[in-house]
Amino acid sequence: MGRKVLILIGHPGAGKGTQARAIMHRLDIPQISTGDMLREAVAKKTSFGREAKARMDAGQLVSDAIVNGIVAERIARDDCKNGFILDGYPRTVHQAETFNTYLKKDDHLFVIEIGANSDDLTKRLTGRWICPGCGEIYNTYSRAPKVEGVCDVCGWTLFHRSDDREDLVRERFGTYKEETYPLVDYYQQRGVYHRVEGPRPIEDVTKAILSIVEGVAKKNADSSRGGGT
Ligand code: ADP
Ligand code: ZN
Repeated sequence: MGRKVLILIGHPGAGKGTQARAIMHRLDIPQISTGDMLREAVAKKTSFGREAKARMDAGQLVSDAIVNGIVAERIARDDCKNGFILDGYPRTVHQAETFNTYLKKDDHLFVIEIGANSDDLTKRLTGRWICPGCGEIYNTYSRAPKVEGVCDVCGWTLFHRSDDREDLVRERFGTYKEETYPLVDYYQQRGVYHRVEGPRPIEDVTKAILSIVEGVAKKNADSSRGGGT
């Protein structure tokens, strides 16, 4: 059986990370967030991290060479053998082209756009607080933790991303529109693109994503039973 490879695309704040975390438990494949891996490299002050920091602090993309390299290394690990969920990669057509060379013939690729309205997203981002311990995501406007600044699940002190500032959020939306949005067309032409509506309860979005993955997998199984290719 081939790997299940999910690519989540959507505006900053559309809920890629939240959904990736929800579906990884259901599909039993890991979430790979290039944003998280880059922030880790920045915190550790690795040579990649130093180079990435300036770009991230400006709301711009880190170079394709760095990002492609970390993804190639990550998906080669054993926990990715049945598949993985990419959250934040590929983010340019050029990255998508490189990523094609990482795919195997029997992989099942699903590209899922989480649709969103950019007006709602600014609040989601500027109000976002994240747990460094368990990854839970909170929001001061809509999903505040019981005790301010403390994770309900594990008790760690929450942090606010330095790029979740209003001016940088605007910059990141611009970067998305120019560099990432062309991927919709790119994957549509390849017949692997799907879209789910983002502005509704988290569980509903999760269900919609799972039904795409399970529905397409079932259709493929049916057509191969029917003597198709
Ligand atoms: P968001 O999607 O909410 O903007 P991420 O956590 O996915 O946030 O990414 C944060 C930053 O990390 C981006 O603004 C960008 O600078 C960098 N980054 C993440 N993934 C990539 C990528 N695939 N290519 C280039 N830069 C990336
Ligand atoms: Zn936590």
